[in-house]
Parts: sequence; structure tokens; C-alpha cells
Amino acid sequence: MTTRFDFSGRTAVVTGGARGIGRAIADHLNAAGAEVHVWDIEDADRRDIRMHQCDVTSPASVAAALGDTLSEAGKIDILINNAGSGRGSRSVLDSDPGDWRNLIEINLLSVFDVTRQVLPYMMAASYGRVVNMASLAGMEGTPNLSAYSAAKAGVIALTKSLGKELALTDIRVNCIAPGPIDTELLQQLSPEDLERMLAKSPMKRPGSVDELARIVLFLAAEDNTLNTGAVFDASGGRAVY
Ligand code: NAD
Repeated sequence: MTTRFDFSGRTAVVTGGARGIGRAIADHLNAAGAEVHVWDIEDADRRDIRMHQCDVTSPASVAAALGDTLSEAGKIDILINNAGSGRGSRSVLDSDPGDWRNLIEINLLSVFDVTRQVLPYMMAASYGRVVNMASLAGMEGTPNLSAYSAAKAGVIALTKSLGKELALTDIRVNCIAPGPIDTELLQQLSPEDLERMLAKSPMKRPGSVDELARIVLFLAAEDNTLNTGAVFDASGGRAVY
């Protein structure tokens, strides 16, 4: 039996939903009946999905997108903190301190800022579902991706802290730690790098954006009452803990 979720009457915000994983999450939530608002630094021509130009690393830009979303929808039931970037592979020794800080900003501090601004409205409504996009890198510590790995480990710890802080409310906070997912980023790898990456996967393939979106839908659903402060694996069997 296929389980289908019904998100009618729910408003969802997806950061970084213009392309890649976030776009698939926005599409799946929309198809399941949610009113979807995407907050992204890039624009995209999306039917049935409201686009808000927003830089999640700027608290003022987040405040503006939040104001616009609330004036259109009146509430936010679901927050998917998906915007992130793993660009720039360098050893710790070769890393530029400014670039390192920027990666922490886009991958970790933005999750704190967006959540801190949205949360009061969920608290007032006594309902919310928050899903943060972490990474297997945050569990393993990927060589030459130290800032990204450290930021994603931070997202995991932030999720655990906030999940516990809100456990007595009807707000659930979880994160997902995906291994390689078939997006533009992966298609830009050299055939050798791609082969090396897939060799580590027991399934010998990357995950798809649709597979990931289905996990998000479960965590964002009203039926998800018991899971909070948890990390969900999406690595096709690669994670060993
Ligand atoms: P992507 O680069 O294809 O898309 C990222 C989206 O975020 C884009 O729409 C981009 O415009 C937006 N964005 C970037 N900076 C922003 C900012 N400052 N403000 C607002 N929006 C911004 O990436 P993706 O592969 O779809 O990854 C999505 C998330 O999943 C990221 O958090 C990433 O770290 C995580 N992830 C991806 C993979 C993978 O293999 N693709 C694996 C593990 C985790």
C-alpha cells in the first residue's frame, strides 16, 4: 500500500527551493496539498508555488520574506531548512578563513536565524514541523570539506537541542543526513570522482531528490508525533551508525 500524505490547509516554507533537493521538496508538498512558499536567493518560474527572494544569511532578508509569507498565508506550519552550499573543496591548511566562515554562515547560522524568526509563530499556533537538511558529511567529517562538515554537524546538534527544548509542545524538529543525491552538483563531478563516491555506497547509486522528498514529507506530517530531535539517514545503507 502506498501511503499518501494530506497537507491541505498547511502552509510550508522551503528555503533553497528554487532548484535541486529543495525544489523536489516544494513540489511534493505542493502535490500533497500544502501552500508552499520558497525562500531562495535565486528566482524560479514556479506555478502554484510562491517564490520569495531571500538570502537566508541575512536576518533582515529573512524578516522580509517572513513578513511577506505571513501577510499572504497568515501562518507557517512547516519549515524546511534546506538552503545550503558545499562548494569549494580544500584541506584545512589550504582553507581561506573568510571562505570557511562563509560556509558556516550559509550552512549553520542561517538555519539558526531562520528558525529563530519563524518559531514564535509556530509557538503562538501551538503547532509546527521543522525539518533541517544536514548531511552525511556532518556525521563522518568529509576530508577537504571541513567547514561544510562542521556546519552540518552543527545542524545536527542544533536539531537535537531544539527538539528537546520543544518536546512538550506539538512542534517537532528533525534533520536528515543524506549521502550523495543526484543533483546538478553531482553531475558536475568527474567520472572518476563519481565512481569513487558510488563505490562507497552499498546500493551503488546516489539517492534521488524524490526519495529524499518522501522522507521530508513523513517528518513534516501531522502524523509524525513521536519523532523529534532525531537524525534520519538517507545514505542508501552507507552510514554505519
Ligand atoms: P543546490 O545547490 O542544487 O540548491 C541549493 C539551493 O539553495 C539553490 O536553490 C540556491 O539558490 C539556494 N541558496 C543558496 N544559498 C542561498 C542563500 N544564501 N539564501 C537562500 N537560498 C540559497 O543544492 P542541493 O544539492 O539541492 O542541496 C540542498 C541541501 O541538501 C543543502 O543543504 C545541501 O547541503 C544538502 N545536501 C545535499 C547533498 C547532495 O548530494 N546534493 C547531500 C547531502 C546534503
